[in-house]
Amino acid sequence: MNNYKDKRNSMVETQLILRGIKDESVLNAMRVVPRDKFVKTKEKNHAYEDHPLPIGHGQTISQPYMVAYMTELLELKGDERVLEIGTGSGYQTAVLSELAKEVYTIDRIKILSEEANAVLDELGYKNIRFLVGDGTKGWQEQAPFDGVIVTAGAPDLPVSFMEQLADGGILVIPVGRSSYQVLTVIKKTGNNIIRKECLGCMFVPLIGEYGWKKD
Ligand code: SAM
Repeated sequence: MNNYKDKRNSMVETQLILRGIKDESVLNAMRVVPRDKFVKTKEKNHAYEDHPLPIGHGQTISQPYMVAYMTELLELKGDERVLEIGTGSGYQTAVLSELAKEVYTIDRIKILSEEANAVLDELGYKNIRFLVGDGTKGWQEQAPFDGVIVTAGAPDLPVSFMEQLADGGILVIPVGRSSYQVLTVIKKTGNNIIRKECLGCMFVPLIGEYGWKKD
């Protein structure tokens, strides 16, 4: 019996479905992606618990519910190009890779990007491109994106993400103080911008030119 598979299915039932995640494709991706592969050896027994975990360098792998919730907000159908800011462990990247056509992911910490790249490669994900650098500037050469997902907390909405969002695109980003943010969703349709604030959250800070200035 695959113990992790059982834990993963239980995670989906109790942490996601019971809390209102409805998108079947998101639930299926969460059933498939092995979170245990993205955490340190000593954390593997905790991989399917209902909270973030440390991944080194002062960073975290996000809570499964937050990964599913943010992914659901992107409304992916399968043909999108998505930009992720904050590769971290690569877990959210894998979920996006299951659901979008192409994923572009940026982290400012080289070793995290390299480790995530190695795990995702081993798991056979082929539609991901990695960049090391300041993600607050986005990825101009690859824009526009149908979805932008930011997995670190920003003080304000970086203008670069709005500029690099395609018409009809969706941006999901935690905005607020360094210790507490509100998950914010922006939908861009022509010149029309719809902004919705979803739920309170606590992400590590987004550090860079259009984010917080230092750790
Ligand atoms: N999505 C990740 C996962 O599933 O493991 C969790 C990401 S962790 C909460 C936040 C990440 O954002 C960290 O890896 C951190 O290095 C990164 N980060 C912070 N500021 C950044 C910036 N300006 N550009 C790119 N990455 C940044």
